[in-house]
Amino acid sequence: MNSLRARLILSHILPQLIILPLLAIILAYVIETQFLLTDLANNFKSVALLAAQNAAVQPTVWQDSTRAEEFVRLLSSSQKREIILIKPNGEVQADPLADMGPLTQLQPDDLAALLSGQTLVRSQYNFDLNAMHVEALAPVLDSRQVVIGIVRVTDRLGNVYQNIQSIRNLEIIATLLALLIAVAMGIWLARRLEIRLQGVMTAIEKVANPDSPYQIQGLQASHMLPEFVRLFTAVNELSSRLRSSEEARKKLLANLVHEVARPLGALQAAVHALQRGAADDTALRNDLLQGMDDQIERLKPLLDNLASLYALSGHPIELHKEEVNLGKWLLDILVTWQAAAQARGLEWRCNLQSNLPIISIDPDRMAQVIGNLVSNAIQYTPDGGHIQVTAGVESDQVWISIEDTGIGITPEERLRIFEPLYRGSRARRFPQGMGLGLAIADEIIRLHSGTLEVNSEEGRGSCFILRLPLPPPS
Ligand code: ADP
Repeated sequence: MNSLRARLILSHILPQLIILPLLAIILAYVIETQFLLTDLANNFKSVALLAAQNAAVQPTVWQDSTRAEEFVRLLSSSQKREIILIKPNGEVQADPLADMGPLTQLQPDDLAALLSGQTLVRSQYNFDLNAMHVEALAPVLDSRQVVIGIVRVTDRLGNVYQNIQSIRNLEIIATLLALLIAVAMGIWLARRLEIRLQGVMTAIEKVANPDSPYQIQGLQASHMLPEFVRLFTAVNELSSRLRSSEEARKKLLANLVHEVARPLGALQAAVHALQRGAADDTALRNDLLQGMDDQIERLKPLLDNLASLYALSGHPIELHKEEVNLGKWLLDILVTWQAAAQARGLEWRCNLQSNLPIISIDPDRMAQVIGNLVSNAIQYTPDGGHIQVTAGVESDQVWISIEDTGIGITPEERLRIFEPLYRGSRARRFPQGMGLGLAIADEIIRLHSGTLEVNSEEGRGSCFILRLPLPPPS
């Protein structure tokens, strides 16, 4: 009973096992009481009225019992009902089937009602005879409207009950047949559903297997139930998210190891040199310490980007905005980048408009953005090239552009460079990055309600322009 099949079959047939017999019982009751018995009672009543009319015009039947016997026999056989004549005092005048069994006595109330001219019709279960009992009683009135006798039409032989019983038998057979068909159909439907569910399970198990193609195919097939299409689509979605986050994790780890290994290696080399005596040579020691400081400095943006990675997984970065004099702030943060560019043998150009406003930004986050863009420009520009930083105000916005004469970005790469962990294939010739810089820069600028765009020509350089909205003049 614990298997899916057993439960499916049970859930398909159980309601029918309960509902069908219940329906059959209700139907039988309604048919018997509302139609069959009412119809019979009406029929008995009209036979009783007819017999009463006949008996009224033959007054001798009330004096001569042989005539009375003759009368009821003839009438009973023509009407196919048992007709009994009863005297006004309740005694039986003529009963053709007297030897078949006793008749129920007329109750005084019934007799009184009949003597007052009423016609009685009754249908009830007779426990003595163990049968359904229908009868009609009609008074026989003479020409002066005096009750001279009573006609009783009854079903002492239980024909009515037999009629009903055969209808019931028919109903039982029909119910059993319906049950049989319903159970067979229930089992068939449950089996079909089970087969489909098994198909679903197999497909999902396949997706879970890391070596198999991770998408369920054929969702457009016409035989697919819409619920299963939804389920499969959700599984495909989950599976591709799982795999892409798995890939991102691997990429991140690989990039991280690479990025951290380089400065660590340089630091270790410097430490070894100092241990081997370089510390005694003041100039060399200073150079080594400066080099170590530079390496640590290079680790900083990496750590900043790693910290911001959290933001790219759906957790918003908290901004701590403050009023900043854009011109002065830019000059301050660009100093170190100018040194880095020049150390790489690149020409550094900086052209900031004198009317740069005071704006409200998160200076640390924005420094991270500028750092990511300028470090990319330095990284992807071969020796001898130049980097140019320009900034200005244009109607309701301020813009900063970082231009280089580096390797440029292909149109295909341009579509992906803002994706977290994406690194261009040609960029691999240059020292490794994490593939996070642009994605984080884009996110921080978006949080400042600004935009970041790129113009680039392959082999000739790139220009990243960030725009920030200015508040309307008050
Ligand atoms: P990375 O840390 O690898 O530089 P980014 O997110 O900063 O990651 O950049 C993503 C990719 O965009 C780079 O791998 C590179 O292919 C391309 N890219 C970014 N800036 C430049 C640029 N100034 N010139 C050429 N390619 C660039």
